[in-house]
Amino acid sequence: MQYNVVVIGSGPGGYVAAIRCAQLGMKTAIVEKYDTLGGTCLNVGCIPSKAMLDSSEHFINAKEHFKTHGIEISEPKANLTQMIKRKAEVVKSNVDGIAFLMKKNKIDVHKGVGSFVDKNTIKVTGKDGKSTNLNAEKVIIATGSKPTALPFAPFDKKRIISSTEALELKEIPKHLIVVGGGVIGMELGSVYARLGSKVSVVEFLDSLIPTMDGTLGKELQKVTKKLGMEFFLGHRVTAVENKGKEVVLVAEPKSGGAPVTLTGDYCLVSVGRRPYTDGLGLEFAGIALEKGRIPVNDHLQTIVPNIYAIGDVVRGAMLAHKAEEEGMMVAEQLAGQKPHINYLLIPGVVYTWPEVASVGYTEEQLKSEGRAYKSGQFPYKALGRARASMDTDGLVKVLADKNTDEILGVHIIGARAADMIAAGVTAMEFRAAAEDVARMSHAHPTYMEAVKEACLAATANRSIHM
Ligand code: FAD
Ligand code: NAD
Repeated sequence: MQYNVVVIGSGPGGYVAAIRCAQLGMKTAIVEKYDTLGGTCLNVGCIPSKAMLDSSEHFINAKEHFKTHGIEISEPKANLTQMIKRKAEVVKSNVDGIAFLMKKNKIDVHKGVGSFVDKNTIKVTGKDGKSTNLNAEKVIIATGSKPTALPFAPFDKKRIISSTEALELKEIPKHLIVVGGGVIGMELGSVYARLGSKVSVVEFLDSLIPTMDGTLGKELQKVTKKLGMEFFLGHRVTAVENKGKEVVLVAEPKSGGAPVTLTGDYCLVSVGRRPYTDGLGLEFAGIALEKGRIPVNDHLQTIVPNIYAIGDVVRGAMLAHKAEEEGMMVAEQLAGQKPHINYLLIPGVVYTWPEVASVGYTEEQLKSEGRAYKSGQFPYKALGRARASMDTDGLVKVLADKNTDEILGVHIIGARAADMIAAGVTAMEFRAAAEDVARMSHAHPTYMEAVKEACLAATANRSIHM
């Protein structure tokens, strides 16, 4: 079979690349080894985790907040089986949507493991062991990533689990131990904390979500403590052992002192993900990994000119929307266009409640680069909209160039931060000054007023409502 483009992997990188290639007139095929399309994001990542976050948020609202709003119900009970069933339905409607889009765009879907025979030939081996060879002028590798295990405690998928199993538990844990206070640890940890589990997070570094602006990690720790989550920051995990009905973890404080021993029923290990290239036969295409990732140039082209790679399998943040942008970029390049990605302005979001969202430089980065900057903050508790909904935890922090006032970073923790960060991206794409945003009318009462107020604070320390 002869194609202009063969895409390997159908996650947000791969399926978007395939659609854009087809839109631009290329005869396109996509290869996926799993039964359903959509990759990590749709099957075991972004979508199912958000479904569980939403269900558990409804539960805690019913349990703890309805009464204050004047809604009286009998004590709500969490039905995990139903939550997981609903999550599966949400996943199904999304993955079916991708299958529909493949048909609509006349993209051939080949189910099976794709592996290079040579730089222009991809062998697809189905579950039945039968194989087909696809001939491709161009190949886009979008094979994604898998969870990283602790070297001394491989996933047994029973007591020592990854996010995939954490999204399929049969019972609400009594005590969930989480290794890694990053995005997955905080999102899935908060799901189970809301459902009543005791949740203990053990993090190697001294703050949660350490790649984001330090203010956000501190605030997130404060608000999730209210949910009952406990934290062991600055701790090195030295052992995790499945003891049958329970799991025991030992961690040592990096600063010295007595080790901590935690006994729980599950240990979620969320210490990052590793690029996935197993079975891809990269060696037959002449590509070697560098630090575990497929090396690419600024055009996402590998050392072999007709082969490109995108998404989690290459450098950069492991985010669905980053993978999508890269898929678009490669497809448009193949059609002779000159697209560009501004990696600084790929936003990051943690879907806890309140949500955390960030774009641009963190304060720590600006300090370490010695850049002259100013900062403006506005707390949610001073916001009429936040008081009305009782979502008063959080703040907006805007960082701007000290001399030119150009916005350099927007960092939000608070209700609806995930949607609000798009305004920060837009402002920064157009290289707005903090004063530009401060002078724009923002509807009242909205959460976005906090962004305007933070810009006012950054511009001349003149927020109105503080
Ligand atoms: P993937 O989505 O990993 O897709 C790769 C696909 O390639 C898979 O379907 C795999 O089966 C297939 N494949 C691999 N090798 C082969 C082969 N040889 N032949 C055929 N097929 C192959 N990101 C966000 O931006 N927002 C979120 O809210 C978010 N939440 C997440 C929650 C969780 C629990 C997890 C685990 C991740 C989350 N992510 C989120 C990250 C996001 O899922 C990834 O960044 C994204 O899926 C990467 O897309 P990709 O296309 O590079 O790879
Ligand atoms: P992460 O990189 O967000 O967090 C891993 C955390 O584990 C870090 O804080 C790190 O310091 C810590 N850590 C590393 N080794 C450790 C050890 N031995 N002991 C204790 N702590 C240790 O990774 P993740 O949470 O596993 O998520 C994986 C990827 O999936 C991330 O790249 C993330 O971008 C993506 N993801 C994104 C979202 C989202 O966008 N909302 C949600 C889930 C996952």
